[in-house]
Amino acid sequence: MNKQLATSLSELEESGSKRVLRPLSSRQGPEVSVGDVRLQNFSSNDYLGLATEPFLAEAAITAIAQYGTGAGASRLISGTLAPHSELEFELARWKQSEAALAFSSGYATALGVLGALAGAGDIVILDKLCHACIIDGARLSGATLRIFPHNNLDRLESHLRWARNKHPRGRIIIATESVFSMDGDCAPIREIIELKERYGAWLLLDEAHAVGVHGENGAGLSDAKGLSDRIEIHMGTLSKALGCAGGYVCGSQTLVEWLTNKARSFMFSTAPPPAQAAVGAAAVRWMGTEAAAQRRHLLWSNIRHFHMCANLSHQPQSAIVPLIVGENEAALSASEALQTASSAGDLGFWVPAIRYPTVPKGTARLRVTLSAAHSQKAIESLGCALQRISLNQST
Ligand SMILES: *Cc1c(COP(=O)(O)O)cnc(C)c1O
Repeated sequence: MNKQLATSLSELEESGSKRVLRPLSSRQGPEVSVGDVRLQNFSSNDYLGLATEPFLAEAAITAIAQYGTGAGASRLISGTLAPHSELEFELARWKQSEAALAFSSGYATALGVLGALAGAGDIVILDKLCHACIIDGARLSGATLRIFPHNNLDRLESHLRWARNKHPRGRIIIATESVFSMDGDCAPIREIIELKERYGAWLLLDEAHAVGVHGENGAGLSDAKGLSDRIEIHMGTLSKALGCAGGYVCGSQTLVEWLTNKARSFMFSTAPPPAQAAVGAAAVRWMGTEAAAQRRHLLWSNIRHFHMCANLSHQPQSAIVPLIVGENEAALSASEALQTASSAGDLGFWVPAIRYPTVPKGTARLRVTLSAAHSQKAIESLGCALQRISLNQST
C-alpha cells in the first residue's frame, strides 16, 4: 500500500498539487504564528473576527458547564438538547423561514439535503463553480447531473428546458451559491429564481460566504435582494462569518420534517456538541444587533480599502478577492514570496495558493480574504507587497 500511495503522492508533488498541513502555533486571527514566524493572515473566512470573540467563548464555557462536552447520541435518539432546539429557533427567526435544521457542518448539510431531496430519475443542475460539497451531494444522490458554465443563464435555461421535456412531471433541483467561495463573485439570484419558477424547479442556495457579510442582519444575499421567500432551500454554515461551526438548512416546516426523516448525514451522525450549538445560537442572535451592523460596516470598508490599495478596478462583491495567475507553480511561488515580502520591520503575509481540484485547472490563484479584524495598515502593506511581487494575472 505505502509504496503505491507514495508513487501517487510524488506525482502530485511534481504537478505542484500536493498539499501539506501547516499548523498554527497561535490562535486564529488577523495575525497568526506558523512555528515561530509571525504572519499577517489574509487566508481565513473569519470575516467578522468572531472566531476568537470573547462573548462566544463565554457561551461555550457556560454550555460546557451545563451540558458537558458530548451530545451522547444522534439527534433522533437522545442527542437533541436545549441548545440544538435554541439554535434552530434562532436560525429560523434570523432567516425569516418557518423552520430550520442544524447539521454538524456545511459539508454534511449539502450531502444530507441533496441525498434526501434527489434520487435516480431526478435532475440536479449545478453551476460549474459550486463547492465540492454540493457536487459530492449531487453525485451521491444518484440523480442525473447537468452542469452550466459559471453564472451562465442561457445554459441554465437550456438544461431546464431539456429536463422538463425529458421528465414532464419530474423533480428538478438547481443548486448554486450566492457568493462563490473561490471567486468571490455573486450569482444572479433574481434571474435564477425567475427561471426556476418558469420551469417548475426548486432552488437550493448555499450562502456559506454571504451570511454575516450581506443583508441587513447579515442574513445573506437573498435577504439583501428581498428574494428569500422565493427560495425553497436555504443552506449555509456557521463556520465562516459566524465564527463557530455547523451547517444549517432553513425552509418550510415540511421540508425540515422531510430532512429530519431522510437526510442521512443528519440521522446517522452524533448530534454536534451542545456547546457548538450554544455558540451557534449566540452568534446568530448577535447578527441582529447594532454591534454586528457596525462590524459588517467595518468589514466592507476594509474590503473597499483593499480594492483601492491593490489597484483593483472591479466593484467588490464580497470579502473574497481572487488574484488569478494560472499555473499551480506561479500561484505557489507568489504565495511564498508574500510570506517573505515584508518591508523593513513589517511581517510577511499569509495568502494561500488555491489550486486544482479546488478550482479548475489553469486558474490557480491567490485568494485574499478580508476581515473586520484587519487593520487599515495591514491592508495597505498587503497592497504594497502585491505590487512588489508584481503578479502576472491571467484575468
Ligand atoms: C465552506 C463551505 C461549505 C462547507 O461548510 P463547513 O461548515 O466548513 O463544512 C459549504 N459550502 C460552501 C460554498 C463553502 O464555502
